[in-house]
Amino acid sequence: MEFAKISLKPGKEQSLLRLHPWVFSGAVDKIDRNIEEGEVVEVYDFKNNFLGVGYFQIGSIAVRMIAFDKVVPDVAFWTKKIQDALAVREAAGLTSNPDTNAWRLVYAEGDGMPGLIIDMYDGTAVLQIHTVGMYIIKDTICQALENVLGSRLKAIYNKSEGTIPFKSRIDPENGFLKGKTEINVASENGLRFYVDLDKGQKTGFFIDQRENRVLLEKYSKDRNILNLFCYTGGFSLYALRGGASLVHSVDSSERAIELTKKNVALNFPEDARHQAYAEDAFKFLDKSKNKYDLIVLDPPAFAKHLNVIPNALKGYRKLNAKAIQNIKPGGIIFTFSCSQVISRDAFRKTVFSAAAKAGRYVRILHQMEQPADHPVNIYHPESEYLKGLVLFVE
Ligand code: SAH
Repeated sequence: MEFAKISLKPGKEQSLLRLHPWVFSGAVDKIDRNIEEGEVVEVYDFKNNFLGVGYFQIGSIAVRMIAFDKVVPDVAFWTKKIQDALAVREAAGLTSNPDTNAWRLVYAEGDGMPGLIIDMYDGTAVLQIHTVGMYIIKDTICQALENVLGSRLKAIYNKSEGTIPFKSRIDPENGFLKGKTEINVASENGLRFYVDLDKGQKTGFFIDQRENRVLLEKYSKDRNILNLFCYTGGFSLYALRGGASLVHSVDSSERAIELTKKNVALNFPEDARHQAYAEDAFKFLDKSKNKYDLIVLDPPAFAKHLNVIPNALKGYRKLNAKAIQNIKPGGIIFTFSCSQVISRDAFRKTVFSAAAKAGRYVRILHQMEQPADHPVNIYHPESEYLKGLVLFVE
């Protein structure tokens, strides 16, 4: 098959030569024929040297690269890519641990597969596709997944309804592409969680906090713990298992609070130490002076675009300042930002200014990050997004 050819303007080949997988629309000089969004293209520099293969997209990123050599992206190509991604999870000890069957198999650019996320929940693969180029080959991806996982794959669920750009020609519907599972319960370090495939946020559960929850468990004994932005109650379960005196979970969404209660009941039935509140986290903090000795702050991404960074930083500052002001002396704060456009350094400076505003003495005990199944492609620093600090407040 002949692929369309895209030629870049002089100098615009540099980022591809450094294996960065994006071509911005401003870098494109010409395309040799009319193409539709999602089509596979070959990319060339201004002297007609071949640079790689990607797929075309409408918007500020014109091409997302899938290879830097001449390839045909068929089932064999994607099978190899997914096999390579699986090898990383195997190396990280994630694929054959009966206590943890929720892990990310494919993390988009982090695994050289732009636009594609695949999370595994006890053998059910949940696909979350972000681009037309990936969406139109989803049957090929399913075949590749079957090739790689064989009998370990129980079902495939497509959860791309909210993630494909709404202006595109694709109108995805959530649903099973292969097999079917009724009630989905997954395990993380021996704790069990309902996974709401259809209505849950992301692919149903926040897998990326797995290791940070383990760290929280170690700090939980005999502490009064406030888990703000709890969603499905991940941190709350670890706090309960770690021996917390009490755990209060807060989320503004009623649905999230219902999920948290269900998950607590699944693991710690009738445990009177836990209470859940559907309330605004900022307001809840205002009435929490000296009540808690451990607070978790894991808000949604306050900034999704570069132009809202200043406001987002204000939001993080306000939230962290309130927590630092109100926590008991000797308290611990687990504070996170999952905004990809806010750097680790900017987040730390913001927490510093929150501490200064609160006027309390603060030490950083740990610096947290995303786990190995959300790998950072060294040529694509944008794959790094989750950062967190464990603070000790005097
Ligand atoms: N900590 C969770 C993930 C948090 S996702 C985990 O470990 O799984 C962010 C959550 O913040 C969402 O559930 C959303 O409903 C909630 N949220 C957003 N704004 C909020 C607010 N102002 N107050 C409380 N919760 C909020």
